[in-house]
Amino acid sequence: MATITDSKAPLRTVKRVQFGILSPDEIRRMSVTEGGIRYSEVYENGRPKLGGLMDPRQGCLDRHTRCTTCAGNMSDCPGHFGHMDLAKPVYHVGFLTKTLKVLRCVCFYCSKLLYNSQHPKVREIVTKSKGQPRKRLLHIYNLCKGKMICEGGDEVDVTKEPEDPTQVVKKTSGHGGCGRYQPNVKRIGLELMAEWKHVNEDTQERKQVLTAERFLPFPDEECYLLGMDPKFARPDWMILTVLPVPPLPVRPAVVMYGTARNQDDITHKLADIIKANNELLRNEQAGAAAHIIMENIKMLQFHVATMTDNDMPGMPKALQKSGRPLKALKSRLKGKEGRIRGNLMGKRVDFSARTVITADPNLRIDQVGVPRSIAQNLTYPEIVTPFNITK
Ligand SMILES: [Zn+2]
Ligand SMILES: [Zn+2]
Repeated sequence: MATITDSKAPLRTVKRVQFGILSPDEIRRMSVTEGGIRYSEVYENGRPKLGGLMDPRQGCLDRHTRCTTCAGNMSDCPGHFGHMDLAKPVYHVGFLTKTLKVLRCVCFYCSKLLYNSQHPKVREIVTKSKGQPRKRLLHIYNLCKGKMICEGGDEVDVTKEPEDPTQVVKKTSGHGGCGRYQPNVKRIGLELMAEWKHVNEDTQERKQVLTAERFLPFPDEECYLLGMDPKFARPDWMILTVLPVPPLPVRPAVVMYGTARNQDDITHKLADIIKANNELLRNEQAGAAAHIIMENIKMLQFHVATMTDNDMPGMPKALQKSGRPLKALKSRLKGKEGRIRGNLMGKRVDFSARTVITADPNLRIDQVGVPRSIAQNLTYPEIVTPFNITK
């Protein structure tokens, strides 16, 4: 067993913690696997494959090798994140509800907020919800969800149709939208379905799958109105275009007696994602029919979603070959045996009764709090004598 030594990394004092959503740029920047993880194989000619699932740049593989990124061994390489470019964007299950909320506030065609940002009702919400972004999104959502048209000018002009339906119609005055009827957006499984009460053209289908691809970047002002800080969390970052690949120490392979290796569930899941992604890429390059591409996107969406969460109600579970459901990232953290409640909270402390210790902003990271009454009750008073005094 390797001995654990103090880290050689420079010490820094944490000034503040900022939560947010990782942007595709940031995922690429923190990745050590240039070119991305592309192959579902692990080894090539008996050595770990570059761009494969156990890319040696992602961390140390065993006791005999060193990490290619930081040259550390088993005990001092913490592992490094990689990334994987997705052929088509997919929804992130953790943000699906929020994504749906945002989509109901904007136009299906031109992605403009359904209310003008200068509208008196919107201004009122902004003043009332200062410092409470969650409330701001809720109010904007309640305001927009009933609005079934993207207004063009100052007046509602529904009779006029845009000349080219694929082109975004820009007008200088009023709301400046495209003047088209909006669909009802519903979640069905992992898909979002748009359904129109009033169709814009007779040829238009009443029902349409709303793919993640349609999600456009939002201007800063709209991010703010939707209750997000444009610097740290943008609605378009809730869509996955790049997938972070967890470091090797997060998904260690268990070496069985002999040569057999048992890969972690996350590694298995990543292999499924790569296979689905490569098939989608192949079909797209070969110019396959639209329904085949749709089927491929569905598959990719399923695998990406079940890596984060594999017990969604009403959804089929991703299974291991043996029939056991795969352990997703969410179930690693959740519940009594999860990382938070099982590994981080409620540790026993010397000279105290059993107590639950939690994070406390007033304590240092290496300190632990003991309730005063318990400390006084259980501590045995030691009287200082000439024999036990330290000089
Ligand atoms: Zn390393
Ligand atoms: Zn519009």
